[in-house]
Amino acid sequence: MKTVTRFAPSPTGNFHIGSARTALFNWLFAKNTKGKFLLRIEDTDKARSTKESINKILDGLKWLNLDWNNEIIYQSKKQKRHREIAEELLKKGLAYKCFCSEEELNKMREEAKILKKPFRYNRMWREKNPKESPKNIKPVIRIKSPIKGETKIDDIIQGTIRVSNEEMDDFIIMRSDGTPTYMLSVVVDDHDMNVTHIVRGHDHLTNTFRQNVIYDAMKWDKPITSHIPLILGSDGSKMSKRHGAIDVEEYKMKGILPSALINYMLRLGWSHGDDEIISLENAIKWFSLERIGKSPAKFDNEKLISVNSHYIKELKNDEIIKFLESYYSSKYKIKIDEISVKRLNLGLNDIKLRSRDLNQLAEMSLFYCSKFPLSISKKAKKYIKKADKTIFTDLLIVLENIKNDFKKQKIEEIISKFLIEKGLKLSDIIQYIRAMITGLDVSPRIYDIMEILGFVEIKKRIENFING
Ligand code: GLU
Repeated sequence: MKTVTRFAPSPTGNFHIGSARTALFNWLFAKNTKGKFLLRIEDTDKARSTKESINKILDGLKWLNLDWNNEIIYQSKKQKRHREIAEELLKKGLAYKCFCSEEELNKMREEAKILKKPFRYNRMWREKNPKESPKNIKPVIRIKSPIKGETKIDDIIQGTIRVSNEEMDDFIIMRSDGTPTYMLSVVVDDHDMNVTHIVRGHDHLTNTFRQNVIYDAMKWDKPITSHIPLILGSDGSKMSKRHGAIDVEEYKMKGILPSALINYMLRLGWSHGDDEIISLENAIKWFSLERIGKSPAKFDNEKLISVNSHYIKELKNDEIIKFLESYYSSKYKIKIDEISVKRLNLGLNDIKLRSRDLNQLAEMSLFYCSKFPLSISKKAKKYIKKADKTIFTDLLIVLENIKNDFKKQKIEEIISKFLIEKGLKLSDIIQYIRAMITGLDVSPRIYDIMEILGFVEIKKRIENFING
């Protein structure tokens, strides 16, 4: 049997990291079993579903490279079929019309409140003759849930769970305006899409019990379920903004690589020994639903950053330069010219080692591409203000002597000699030079940078300070 999984987001907001992880687990399971991964947009809630949200989900999936098979299914387009199933259940006597008024339902709610029990519709129309129905009320359609016995679910992650059928209610499958409910639509779509495995958040577990009633009534095969634990914040409370970014888009904006986010999300709840860095190839090879932990995973921003640094180191220069091109053009309106590409190719390896995210990498590489005036960070400005201009005028003269052999060792030698002659320490000048030629207070080794930029450029940058 070919496996078929699906990701079924409701497009009512941003693309949350929890949803992205659900998509990833479905995708990996499909890849691992050489099955299919389908995408269904559950847009039946007209009031809350938006085009903008659909775009965010699709952009996020594309950015993460979680490609889906077949065409996207829009649930709202399937309502006719959902209605047909509701009618079929009605005809078979497995569902019924309920003409309860709002007042009657409110009374039931109040009674439940007094008895401190959860509200459950009292099934008053289950056996009633529809001929007795009031004329002024449009009925809903309710499913006949089993009254006696128990319902059992064998969930791959949560294990076997039993619920007494007394806990079940005759829930609504079609509203009085003729629109199908979420509970019905999900089942009909999963059946029609031949879904074999449902992998979704733990918050859907109670829905699974209800949805099973529909599967049983229709005598349809039930998909195998896996309910993934939620993601918690680092302090164990529900993940929220204060624990870090929530939406996939935010991670992109923060300079997290899609490969790093995939690796990190995979490790949120799934493990393979102590491996932290897992290539996509291995993830596909090793993935299994059984290995997803039962307890909620805690989000750890530092771990994500360390995974991100790892993937940044693995990037090829061409890929980085492509990113820098769009970053610089939108933020600084700078184009990367040929000389800058040459410099970047010499300098990026070092910068990659020091970068936690792509934005930091871009800011740290900017001095290789900048035209005057160089943008100077706040901290660097402090150094520049304090620097003694005569020292740097003299330093330029000695550097000029080696301009035809401007190599890092030579530069280091000549600067050491210069310091001895002047009775200075390296710390007396190093941060100042760094500030003048990079505009930063942290950078790769200064001699390496000087060699890459070359004497003419270094002279220009130091003179700019001296004359400024
Ligand atoms: N549309 C539901 C949600 O976004 C998921 C439904 C499902 O996976 O069965 O939470």
